[in-house]
Amino acid sequence: MTPLHIAIVGAGPAGCYTADQLTRKLPDARIDIYDRLPTPYGLIRGGVAPDHQGTKAIVRQFERSFARGNVRFRGNVEVGRDVAYEDLKAAYHAVVIASGALEDRRLGIPGEDLAGVYGSGRFVGWYNGIPDCSGLAPRIDGPAAAIIGNGNVALDIARILGKTSAELAASDICAHAAAQLARAGLTDIYLIGRRGPCEAAFSAAELAELGRLEQVAPCVDAPLPAEPPADWDETRRKAALKNLEILRGFAATEWTDKPLRLHFLFHATPVAIAGEGTVAALRLVRSPLADGEEAEFTLPVNTVITAIGYRARPIPGVPFDTGRGIVKHEEGRVEPGVWTTGWCKRGPQGVIPANRSDALATADAIAANLAAAEQPAKPGGSAIDARLQDRGIEVVDFPGWQRIDTQEVAAGQGKPREKLVATAALLAAARQPETAR
Ligand SMILES: Cc1cc2nc3c(=O)[nH]c(=O)nc-3n(C[C@H](O)[C@H](O)[C@H](O)COP(=O)(O)OP(=O)(O)OC[C@H]3O[C@@H](n4cnc5c(N)ncnc54)[C@H](O)[C@@H]3O)c2cc1C
Repeated sequence: MTPLHIAIVGAGPAGCYTADQLTRKLPDARIDIYDRLPTPYGLIRGGVAPDHQGTKAIVRQFERSFARGNVRFRGNVEVGRDVAYEDLKAAYHAVVIASGALEDRRLGIPGEDLAGVYGSGRFVGWYNGIPDCSGLAPRIDGPAAAIIGNGNVALDIARILGKTSAELAASDICAHAAAQLARAGLTDIYLIGRRGPCEAAFSAAELAELGRLEQVAPCVDAPLPAEPPADWDETRRKAALKNLEILRGFAATEWTDKPLRLHFLFHATPVAIAGEGTVAALRLVRSPLADGEEAEFTLPVNTVITAIGYRARPIPGVPFDTGRGIVKHEEGRVEPGVWTTGWCKRGPQGVIPANRSDALATADAIAANLAAAEQPAKPGGSAIDARLQDRGIEVVDFPGWQRIDTQEVAAGQGKPREKLVATAALLAAARQPETAR
């Protein structure tokens, strides 16, 4: 029988879960997972906070997929640049687009392009060592920064900005970021939400963590509602009640001797970022207004970090829904022989395990489709390998990633790892251990 060849674009959780499911449903299929980076695991490496190491343990499961002989990692290969989408369609029986949502959503307000304004994707990529973000050197010398957004990414960034060097010591934050954070002179961080505290998408555990940091004083200045709206469903009400309780606790605490104030500002919509070349202030509009309050107000901040969501980055040739910023699809089906899964399909929502059920549905659909008709012979990855070689693209395979991994862990010296952050250094480490640094 013709061996089935499947290409997955993106080695993040969505791509890895899909490979895992496909190996169960089509045990003889040959699966290649391409990633633009020399390293696998997408946002598990480049997004999840460096001080939340437990969350990253899921990679052990994905390692087992790569250990099966029929799943190959093809790192350092950007589909659409190093290899054409059309070439993948020609070489493989099925292609899965699992390329995530790499672009920061923009606020769409004046001043957004001033120096000192950063999207959370780039900012998080800076401290997590994504090669194209590592050189960011953001302005965090203070005294004040605003983080716009009321989700867990905003909390992650506030926590990382607020932790002391000692508190970050057991994390895998990159050395360049740790050094800059140690010199940061922030005294005030504003966490800004357009809507109220009940609507904030904070996880209670992450919110509560902010109250236990050595130098951070979480402040809630405005009155909090007694409880969430009565017509919300039980789960949503419970989550909001828990968050309200934590925020009330913050408001009631007299934070003495904590030098960094973290202000929760709700019902505040940014309307402009002001400054001459660099950020000097953020203008906001408050709504609804309490008695005697002015609608417009200004915060004197030197840094603005937006954490308001992401869009997928279009891959040339792959149908794209520009309005929603996702791959265009119908129930995961992009066009004949092509599927999509993960954040580039659903938008930037859902934690890592949410990609599992999506991957399961994708693998089911692919298996059913491939079984429905006799499949023609296709060359699979060998055809693409030859093209990449002709173009001088240095592909990192799974053993290559393991060499990177070993070297990073060895360099950690007390930390879980010290990441290599330049593509050249990653490729050198993938080639052979001795040339890594
Ligand atoms: C800052 C941040 C923190 C988070 N923290 C948590 C957390 O603590 N816990 C939790 O459960 N979830 C967390 N999440 C959510 C979690 O990361 C996502 O659910 C998950 O990563 C989405 O998986 P994905 O595979 O769709 O996308 P990604 O993880 O982004 O993977 C996409 C992959 O595709 C690759 N790629 C993109 N374009 C191309 C191309 N053209 N060619 C080849 N490869 C390409 C990328 O390099 C990347 O490796 C966090 C998200 C963010 C943004």
